[in-house]
Amino acid sequence: MTEKKLPDNAIDIKDLSKQYKSPDGKSSFYALDSVSLNIPRGSIFGLLGPNGAGKSTFINILAGLTIKTSGKAMVWGYDIDKNPRTIRSYLGIVPQELNIDPFFTPKETLNLQAGMYGIWPKERITQEILRVLDLEDKADAYARELSGGMRRRLLVAKAMVHRPPILILDEPTAGVDIELRKQLWSYVRKLNEYGTTIILTTHYLEEAEELCETIAILDKGKIVRCASTKELLEDVESKTIILKTSEKPNPKNAVISQLGASIDADNNLKINYNPKIDNSRKILEMVENSGVSVVDFEVVGASLETVFLSITSRK
Ligand code: ADP
Repeated sequence: MTEKKLPDNAIDIKDLSKQYKSPDGKSSFYALDSVSLNIPRGSIFGLLGPNGAGKSTFINILAGLTIKTSGKAMVWGYDIDKNPRTIRSYLGIVPQELNIDPFFTPKETLNLQAGMYGIWPKERITQEILRVLDLEDKADAYARELSGGMRRRLLVAKAMVHRPPILILDEPTAGVDIELRKQLWSYVRKLNEYGTTIILTTHYLEEAEELCETIAILDKGKIVRCASTKELLEDVESKTIILKTSEKPNPKNAVISQLGASIDADNNLKINYNPKIDNSRKILEMVENSGVSVVDFEVVGASLETVFLSITSRK
């Protein structure tokens, strides 16, 4: 694609910020606030975050759809400010919404898309993409006749017509059932094995854990954690102690609020804690000493949900 030496990082971001006016127009806020990260070439990288965290803003800046307020962004070694057109050829973006014309066949859809990138018919790789994404059999079927899974794959195929070395998938499986999700993951892995760097935004921790080597967690415009998936799951060691009480605990109890406990419908107290710092016996004693009568208790390990919530502090 280029004589340039291959970059170590597919994406290099330094202090990237995007400021928007707040909805009332009176103040402003940062949708992205001094975000710095490197995405190594050849990796599968997950950008995780709750709704409104800034994931789409991040992607839109890379895609040239949103103008950054400040900071620096390099795609495949090219500065997005200096080479906005070059960057397009290095990025394939799979949008969230299924923007497929139902009256075109997959082959026509891909040829049209390739045409939009100025790729001559003899240079197109339509057939190859259809094969990789298992759409060869449906090459000439109307898109409206494709199953949900095939449509998702066609979206990925559309993003690949110009052989981008970086593929960005924006919430690829939002609202998709688990079977389809797993199927799509296997195609994403396959594209990665062929050398494509994959960047995935998702709010499903399970998806990130399944696919990504490295995960950055974005919350309120800031990267709150960036680590290998393994490290992330290990070091956010979090456990939950569930205390069965004889009567509804008073939520205003100072110890209960200090421990960040929640009270469920059965009057159980649920407390997340870090076993490296606290232990269940100590927590139990603190709660009992505060006047709550505990009749039984149970300790459960961290769910993926707990890990994510403990990092983004959304209890
Ligand atoms: P995510 O993709 O993680 O859900 P977004 O990047 O879409 O988050 O949004 C981050 C924040 O920026 C949100 O508070 C959102 O309302 C706000 N935002 C996004 N686009 C605009 C815009 N064009 N104008 C004003 N605020 C915006």
